[in-house]
Parts: sequence; C-alpha cells; structure tokens
Amino acid sequence: MLLRHTPAEPAVDREALTINPAKTCQPIGAMYAALGIHNCMPHSHGSQGCCSYHRSMLTRHYKEPVMAATSCFTEGASVFGGQANLLEALGNIFTVYNPDVVAVHTTCLSETIGDDLKQMTAKAIDSGKVPAGKTVLLANTPSYVGSHVTGFSTMVKGIVEGLAVSTTAHKLDVINLIPGYVEPSDMEEVKRLAAALGVKTITFPDTSNVLNGPMTGKFRMYPGGGVTVAELRAAGDSRATVALGPLASSAAAQALALKCHVPCEILELPIGLTATDKFIDTLRRVAGVSVPDSINRERGQLLDVMTDMHQYTYGKKVALAGDPDQLVALVDFLVTMDMQPIHIVSGTPGKKTLERMRPSLDKLGRPVNVKIPSDLYQLHQWIKQEPVDLIIGGTHCKYIARDEDTPLLRFGFPIVDRIGHQYFPTVGYKGGLRLLEKILGLVMDRQDRDAPEERFELVM
Ligand code: SF4
Repeated sequence: MLLRHTPAEPAVDREALTINPAKTCQPIGAMYAALGIHNCMPHSHGSQGCCSYHRSMLTRHYKEPVMAATSCFTEGASVFGGQANLLEALGNIFTVYNPDVVAVHTTCLSETIGDDLKQMTAKAIDSGKVPAGKTVLLANTPSYVGSHVTGFSTMVKGIVEGLAVSTTAHKLDVINLIPGYVEPSDMEEVKRLAAALGVKTITFPDTSNVLNGPMTGKFRMYPGGGVTVAELRAAGDSRATVALGPLASSAAAQALALKCHVPCEILELPIGLTATDKFIDTLRRVAGVSVPDSINRERGQLLDVMTDMHQYTYGKKVALAGDPDQLVALVDFLVTMDMQPIHIVSGTPGKKTLERMRPSLDKLGRPVNVKIPSDLYQLHQWIKQEPVDLIIGGTHCKYIARDEDTPLLRFGFPIVDRIGHQYFPTVGYKGGLRLLEKILGLVMDRQDRDAPEERFELVM
C-alpha cells in the first residue's frame, strides 16, 4: 500500500513540507457556497485545469453534475492579466446560460498576477456585459493560503456584501441561518429544526435540493434548491443571524451585522448533544419561541442511545482528521460519550481551533496530540506510536485504516468512495443519532471479528 513505509518516528522536522494534505483548494469551498444560491453560475477566474479539478471533486463527493464556468487562462492571460477573458466570459454566461447570479472566485494564478476583480467587474457592468437586474459576486480565493473552508467563508461573505440590503429600521420576524460548510442534508436538517420551532428563516447558502436532488429524468442547468436572490436581499431586514461554525460562517455574519445592523450569534456546529442543545436554545431565545415536544423527543432518543450503549463507547481511542468547525464539535461529542480523541489534525489553518477544543480535551485528563495545520502523514505516525480503536475522517484516511487495520468512519470532505453524506444529516439530534449508530456499528463489528469463541456474544 501507498503508506506502508510511513515510519512511527519523524525522520526530520518538516515544518515546510506537507505529505498527504488534510485539506483542498480554496475555490472548491467558494464553488460549493455559490451552488447554494438558486440560479447561480459559479465562475472560476483562472485556468481551465483548476475549474475541472474543483468541479470533479464536488461531483465525486456528491455524485451529481456540478456546473461552473471558467475564464480559461492561457499564456496570454497569464502574462497580460485576465480582464479580457473575464469580460468575455461574463457576456457569454449571461447570454447563453441566463443565471440570476455569477459568483466569481479567483485561483492561485489570477491572484499571483494580481487581477483586480472589483475593477474588472465594474468594467464589465460599464461595458454592458452584466444585464440589468443580474448580480456578480466576488471572492478572492488563492489556494496558497487557507483551504476549502476559508474559500467557502469568503464566498459567503461575498454573498452578504453583494446582495444583502437593509430597507427598514424595524427588523422583520425572520432569522438568518448560516449553516456553515456542511452537507446538503445538514442544511436541510437545520431548516427542519427551525421550522419545527416555528421560526421563519432565510438559510444561506443552501445546497439542499441542489446536490442531493431527486432523479427526475430531465436535465436542469439550475436545480430547484438554493436560496433565492430575493431572500438574500431580504437578509438585511432580518431580526438576527445565527451562524454555525465560526471559521466558515462568522465572516459573513459579522459583515451582515456591519452592513445591515443585523445582530449575530456565532455557535459551534450542532453536532452531538450539547452543541445541538446550544443551537436549539439560541434559536428559541432569539426568535422568542418555545421548544416543542417533537424536538424534546428527538433529544431524548439520542440521550437514550448514548446511555444504553455507553459500555461500547467508553474509553475507545479515536484519531480524527477534518475541518476545524467539524472537529471542535465532534471532539465535544466524543468526549461526552467518554471516548478519547487522542490524535487530531486539520489541514485548515485556524489559530483558535485548539483553543475551542481545549475545554473538551481537558476533560480527558491525558495528553493529546493536536497539530493544526498538519497532514495525514503526521496522523499516521501518531497512530503507529499509539494505536486507536477508530479513525474518523474523509476517504483519504482509508489508506491509514487499511495499513493499521483500524475501522474508519467516513466523515467530512471529501468522501468519494461511499454515499449517504448527501442524504443523511450528522447535525441535530437525529444527526447525532446517525453518527453514534455508525460509530457503534464499527466498534461492535470489530469486537465480533476479534472476540475469541468463548466471548463471542449473540446479544450486544
Ligand atoms: S492549488 Fe491553485 S492552481 Fe492548483 S488547482 Fe488549486 S487553485 Fe488551481
């Protein structure tokens, strides 16, 4: 196997070298966020190869076609700048594909040569390339900094800057929900929970029914889902914003607060019991509603399974690779179940990630390996030094899982060798129950496989 020669101990200090990265390009996140707007064409301002790679990663993860346009840089644009390409592209996209919005993000190349998106878009509008009533959104997303998470965050902030307006001093009885860099199924679930609470929301971005839509037999350039332009404009008149996942969502929430005076609450992703409690309680408070029995019942079910199955989760060691917002909430959920997340890496830089995890990790009462940013090679070395019962991470962790004969729970981005993440949420109480059911399935399958005959249990 590819990783069989990974040594347990580091041969050299390799601060300046990444091996098997635990992140991907900024524009992938920007493209994903743009797909959560109805009738929006994501546009990659750079060379064709970047756009093809980013589309193919999203297509592989979601098993759905992903549309995006490109400025198609060749040698000329790389030397003289990409303005002519972008102007021509915008003209063609609005003429041929008629979107309401074109969401432009940059790539390494266009950033390196210093293309100024704002100036170019102003020129496109002046020269009639952008029809009246249509919008061009902008995000600077070079991949030599940040990751897909920061790309997502920048585009969501770009949505606010480009569309939200405040038209009244009397805010409306609506709450903006920024769900974070989560799956379409998760976006659907936070909307369902808000609706069950009786809260009117504007959720953005919203990729549900875009990247997890049904087979209808008909091709649609723009699927039925996504937040509309009218809703995004109205987000400036909402009473408050609840933003989930500080790294992915706080920039947009704060930009909206600054631009339209919509106060915001920034929470961890509602993964697991306590984080979901905080989400439900915050929605209840800011919207002035009561929590219905149906939600209390879902909470009770999760709590019931956590306590019933505690003997299988207690003391289990876990290695995690993923995005900061997910890791913080996941670590808290694992610790709540008396599991031990002992090796943790993220490829996405985030100075405050460890700080946010610290209260949960301190409860373990033992040393833990955490390195952010870091890579899967580092994670593999730690697992060799202290083996774990479970690995949680994206598909790339399957090489480590195979080499170390350790169960892998696929979670995060990308997952290109399984399905389910598009359709079944991991946020909310129901999502927590699904995560726990998957964790238990892996732990108990391993126990069944390894149990000597006299300890092989029929009832578990
Ligand atoms: S790293 Fe930069 S150049 Fe390479 S695919 Fe990503 S955006 Fe394009």
